[in-house]
Amino acid sequence: MLSYQHAYHAGNFADVHKHLTLYAVIDHLLRKKSSITYIDTHAGRGLYPLAAAETARLQEYQEGVARLWAERARLAQASPLLGDWLTAVGKVQRGGGLDHYPGSPWWLSQRMREGDRLRLFELHPGEHGHLADQTFSESVKRIQGDGLAGLLKTLPAKTPRICVLIDPSYERKAEYEEVADTVLAAMRKARHAVVMIWYPMLPAGRHQALLDGLRDGGLRKIWRSELTLGDPGEGHGMYGSGMLVVNPPWGLDERIHEAMAAMRPLWGSTAHHRSDWWVGE
Ligand code: SAM
Repeated sequence: MLSYQHAYHAGNFADVHKHLTLYAVIDHLLRKKSSITYIDTHAGRGLYPLAAAETARLQEYQEGVARLWAERARLAQASPLLGDWLTAVGKVQRGGGLDHYPGSPWWLSQRMREGDRLRLFELHPGEHGHLADQTFSESVKRIQGDGLAGLLKTLPAKTPRICVLIDPSYERKAEYEEVADTVLAAMRKARHAVVMIWYPMLPAGRHQALLDGLRDGGLRKIWRSELTLGDPGEGHGMYGSGMLVVNPPWGLDERIHEAMAAMRPLWGSTAHHRSDWWVGE
């Protein structure tokens, strides 16, 4: 099918939730010296100019990164993690204001050290074309192909540590189960891998199939973080953003809580963040 283009949604509240968590996980992993293989199963374009026709059409970033950007001084005071994250966002700006938003390939590549590797999978020819136009170091490989199959082929990696982001477009209902099956297979090949899985929270509640699949597969040590802007019944669109982190680094939860407490009021009184150690109870 492949009709989804992330450019229509770049920088929205879900991207902020996803990429802030990603940034924090990388931050924790970089505290140790041993090298890391990063795998991004659904990479997208890599960098999103906010003036591009697709992004300018819905302007979802206005309700996302733009709200944080406007209050960056206050947020940096309240949460050093948010301050660092917003400084990183600042690095891709070309003019005086907010004009670009970085996608997961940028977040994963910008802090790579010698010995670290990055595999970027993107299936859509057009999106892969945009990704191919970007400049990355030689240790970044871009592969046009299926990211879930690519992940399993890449594992076990040659580096001591592995960090994976799974961020599908969930255009097909079956994708939730496919992601769960792939994560279970990946953990059998690399038990120590840190795996992040993003999912949309929609009124149909299809993400439950992903959670059930992981639970039924017996996966443990998962931290779940959900940012919701309203109740499921209030509209037809995405009301929340979910992130699962398998094998989360120690202390990740506290830093995300602090950041969420600082930024949640940006979305008014109906917004909530909740997190738990999800063991599939
Ligand atoms: N991870 C990106 C980010 O955070 O900036 C956004 C990714 S977007 C939500 C999902 C992407 O997955 C789309 O670009 C889509 O073309 C791509 N895609 C869809 N099916 C795929 C598959 N089977 N393998 C790899 N990429 C796929």
